Amino acid sequence: SMASPALLMRVVASAYSVAEKAATIVRNVMSAGDLGIVEKAGPSDLQTKADRLVQMSICASLARKFPKVTIIGEEELPTDDVTEDLIEDGHCEEILKKPCPAQYTGIKEEELVIWVDPLDGTKEYTEGLLDHVTVLIGIAYGGKAIAGVINQPYYNYEAGANAVLGRTIWGVLGMGAFGFQLTEAPAGKHIVVTTRSHSSALVNECIAALNPDHVIRVGGAGNKIIQLIEGKASAYVFASPGCKKWDTCAPEAILHAVGGKITDICGNSFQYNKEVKHMNSAGVLATLRNYDYYASRIPNTVKESLVP
Ligand code: AMP
Ligand code: MG
Ligand code: MG
Repeated sequence: SMASPALLMRVVASAYSVAEKAATIVRNVMSAGDLGIVEKAGPSDLQTKADRLVQMSICASLARKFPKVTIIGEEELPTDDVTEDLIEDGHCEEILKKPCPAQYTGIKEEELVIWVDPLDGTKEYTEGLLDHVTVLIGIAYGGKAIAGVINQPYYNYEAGANAVLGRTIWGVLGMGAFGFQLTEAPAGKHIVVTTRSHSSALVNECIAALNPDHVIRVGGAGNKIIQLIEGKASAYVFASPGCKKWDTCAPEAILHAVGGKITDICGNSFQYNKEVKHMNSAGVLATLRNYDYYASRIPNTVKESLVP
């Protein structure tokens, strides 16, 4: 008989199903029509009913299954007395069947930190740019992002009624990433993807210094990593604070699982231990290939303006 699956694979398999439930909540809140928008730090920092319900659903569902894991979610909401209809207790059988990379088979619950962005791209969600939205569940061990799930609830929403709506991308370091077709960006072209709703003079100065052939402005950290792994963009460049650890953990794990690289604008890697500061104060620089090309062209003046 088979040995019981390693904890990491059980967490990823559960996170997959929990993220699919989250996507259903995101779509249901939108179709019900009352978004319940609340401003957090200001008009560009919003929370909707979907952010709140999904935060409770993901955190309560994972905490029930893995009570000793540290779970850090973006929204500050109670996880006790969450209603049963928000709980997901399923898992993806296919993930559970895959062997855990040897270096992770001995991980214990208390050694894992799960970073949850219940709805990434909230501003765009409120503006109807629905395919910018993702649900992010990142899994960290020893301060490193080692596994992640990205659900895109509105993938294919413009492809017509016959197309399957939504998808789930997942990955583990040492295994690879699944649920999408890995595609290289056009060779010899420099296509930068950046923020749509959180620009600044420094953000634009940094992009201009890279002299790109094209700039794509879309919402969401999860969405921008998808642009990289599907060959739509060659670099994600964001020279500003604003992005947090729950924005980068799942995307980092998936990007690293397929050989990409993500750091802050100064080239420092991100840490994901539970004590770490939430803010990625020195921005984001990510690529699937040719990281050094972009890193070497970030102006020193930009690096000096951003303190990690
Ligand atoms: P964006 O590329 O603007 O969609 O940002 C990626 C992630 O970082 C999203 O979760 C944003 O909410 C967050 N973010 C980036 N900049 C800011 C900011 N200035 N204030 C609040 N959140 C931000
Ligand atoms: Mg976010
Ligand atoms: Mg969010």
